Amino acid sequence: MHKLSRATLSLNGLGRCLIAEKYVSAIKITSRGFVCAEHRDESGKNEVYDVIISGGGLVGSAMACSLGMDPNLEGKKILLLEAGNKKVMDKVPDTYSTRVSSISPGSASFLTGIGAWDHITQMRCKPYKKMQVWDACSDALITFDKDNLEDEMAYIVENDIAVAALTKQLDSLSDNVRVQYRSKVVKYAWPMPHQAADSIPWVKVTLASGETVQTKLLIGADGPNSMVRRALGIPTVKWNYDQSAVVAVLNLSEPTENNVAWQRFLPTGPIAMLPLSDTESSLVWSTSHRLAEELLELDEESFVDAINSAFWSNENQSELIETAGSLFRSALSVLMPSAGSPRQLPPSVAGISPKSRAMFPLGIGHASEYIRHRVALIGDAAHRVHPLAGQGANLGFGDVACLTKLLSQAAFDGKDLGAIQHLLEYETECQRKNLPMIAAIDLMKRLYSTNAAPVVLLRTFGLQAANMIPTLKEQIMSFASK
Ligand SMILES: Cc1cc2nc3c(=O)[nH]c(=O)nc-3n(C[C@H](O)[C@H](O)[C@H](O)COP(=O)(O)OP(=O)(O)OC[C@H]3O[C@@H](n4cnc5c(N)ncnc54)[C@H](O)[C@@H]3O)c2cc1C
Repeated sequence: MHKLSRATLSLNGLGRCLIAEKYVSAIKITSRGFVCAEHRDESGKNEVYDVIISGGGLVGSAMACSLGMDPNLEGKKILLLEAGNKKVMDKVPDTYSTRVSSISPGSASFLTGIGAWDHITQMRCKPYKKMQVWDACSDALITFDKDNLEDEMAYIVENDIAVAALTKQLDSLSDNVRVQYRSKVVKYAWPMPHQAADSIPWVKVTLASGETVQTKLLIGADGPNSMVRRALGIPTVKWNYDQSAVVAVLNLSEPTENNVAWQRFLPTGPIAMLPLSDTESSLVWSTSHRLAEELLELDEESFVDAINSAFWSNENQSELIETAGSLFRSALSVLMPSAGSPRQLPPSVAGISPKSRAMFPLGIGHASEYIRHRVALIGDAAHRVHPLAGQGANLGFGDVACLTKLLSQAAFDGKDLGAIQHLLEYETECQRKNLPMIAAIDLMKRLYSTNAAPVVLLRTFGLQAANMIPTLKEQIMSFASK
């Protein structure tokens, strides 16, 4: 298990950026040997695709739509392989699903561009306008809202609905993208970056059915345990936080406008309540595996009590921190009398939807390389983050937008889609965006995982100051809403 630090993360990314130039020129020469004729044996097996995407979760399905919509890629042969069943949704389910994602405005416009957002809004999604984050060990809080409350801060979308919307869009793109469900990849064979007599020209993909297909570019979108990443032996900085997220659909004690997302940092991990409707919210409670297991075992009433107490109890606060915090707050309000946002109280929880409790192990991971010869990793296959900032899928959509832009340009220029030049550009551009976010999320996780007084004081002052400085808050919001 590796230790992750900001420095390691940055080095892993920046090292690649620095060698990129040199690498490109070297590969430019060798890659010429790879432009060869398409193969297809008599049986239709070993068919050669321009792009194969392995994994049709949120990110892989979005990648398939994005490539299928791009006019420069028209006529390219694109295949999406997904191990699971096709997720169709003839009607919106009566009950909410426990797996939801907070989708940033940037991701919502990306999904609009690939034709999936309309399908999502026609089914179900809940916008919210505000987010209040506060510390269980002090009175410090920060409220994010848009100056113009017409604007949405983000949207809560059920993962099943997002995937069903992408699936519907893929159905309408069937002339451009072929999708094979229940098609688990069991083996990859890689072309050599140098010409060798026994080298295969393309990536060879073997499915559990025994079928084989080939591709000029393989996109690995096969999730945090990516087989593509492992089979290539790409070094990954990762560790488990020894935490799990307990999720559930919560019934609120009374109907409210419910357009605020709430998150409280407990020393054992953050607890968040994300709006679903006027009467329901989604719980994401990150905590130790042991406590998570205990929470799953509790009867409904005790579970609801535990949630309310996690949001309301002051048992982690001390007089010293409270006094220091309130002195600091008073000093700040003298300097900036009109700044800061008042504390709002979260709704209380009255019950949970039947069978909606589940838990998921949490971890962090970052592949030091997002690309190899004829291969690119996207989404959780390339990076996995703690859900405290609701960024995992958003980062993945960012990867998709970036890779599509570069492949589209390559196709327009008549270049080989699997050539290393634009893949390196993809890696450099995305790592530059992803690494600061991953480091910031990890830092937050660590900063709030302790109730040691000096750290609590430091973060109390930091949070209160950030709450009073509108430009700082705007910068944090714009960083998180791309
Ligand atoms: C509790 C929790 C809350 C979260 N909240 C948020 C949030 O609010 N906002 C946000 O942006 N993100 C959030 N995330 C993160 C988000 O869910 C993930 O980042 C996102 O789902 C990753 O999508 P993906 O498509 O990359 O991977 P996955 O969803 O893991 O999809 C991988 C797909 O690949 C397929 N596959 C795997 N192996 C193979 C194979 N060999 N052959 C063929 N197919 C294969 C799988 O069947 C699967 O469909 C949260 C995560 C958790 C755990």
